[in-house]
Amino acid sequence: DVTELVSIEELVDDVECLLIPRLLNDNISYEKQIVPYVVAGNKEEFKQVLLNLLNNAIDAVHDSSDKQIRLVVTPKADRVMLAIENNSEMIPADVLGKLFQPFFTTKANGTGIGLSICKNIIEKHKGTIHCESASNITRFVVSLPIVDEHQ
Ligand code: ADP
Ligand code: MG
Repeated sequence: DVTELVSIEELVDDVECLLIPRLLNDNISYEKQIVPYVVAGNKEEFKQVLLNLLNNAIDAVHDSSDKQIRLVVTPKADRVMLAIENNSEMIPADVLGKLFQPFFTTKANGTGIGLSICKNIIEKHKGTIHCESASNITRFVVSLPIVDEHQ
C-alpha cells in the first residue's frame, strides 16, 4: 500500500478543484480555515474521504435557502482534526447511529457507501471519524495523527 507524506493544504486544494462547479452552481457559501499540517498515508484515499464528505455536505444544503459549508482544520495534541460542517436540520438519533453502515442512505439515488468507505480509510490510517449534529448544524470530524516533519 502507498504511504506518503501528504500536506492537508494540498489535499484540500486538489479536492476543491473537483467541487468548484457544484459549489458555484448551487450558490453555496464555502469557507475554510486551514492550518498547514502533514499526515501520512495514501493521498488518493485521503482525497476520496474529503470528496465524499464535501459532496455529502453539498447534498445536505442543496434544498436549503441558507447554504453554508465550512472546512476547519485544527491541531489537538498530536492529532489534526478536520471538520466539515454544513447547516442542516438535526439528524435524528436513529439515523445518526446508522450513518457509517454500508448501504445506509436517506437519498433517493444514494448508494450509502460513501461514509462506510470514509470510515474504513480513516481507521486504516489510525484515525477516527464521527458525526455531530445539532439543531442547525451537522459536522463530520476526522482525526488523524500528525506527522512531525522535523523529527
Ligand atoms: P449517500 O451519500 O450515498 O447517501 P453516504 O454513506 O455518503 O451515502 O451517507 C449516508 C447518509 O448519511 C446519507 O444518505 C445522509 O442521510 C447522511 N448524511 C451524510 N452526510 C450528511 C450531512 N452532511 N448532513 C446530513 N446528513 C448526512
Ligand atoms: Mg455520500
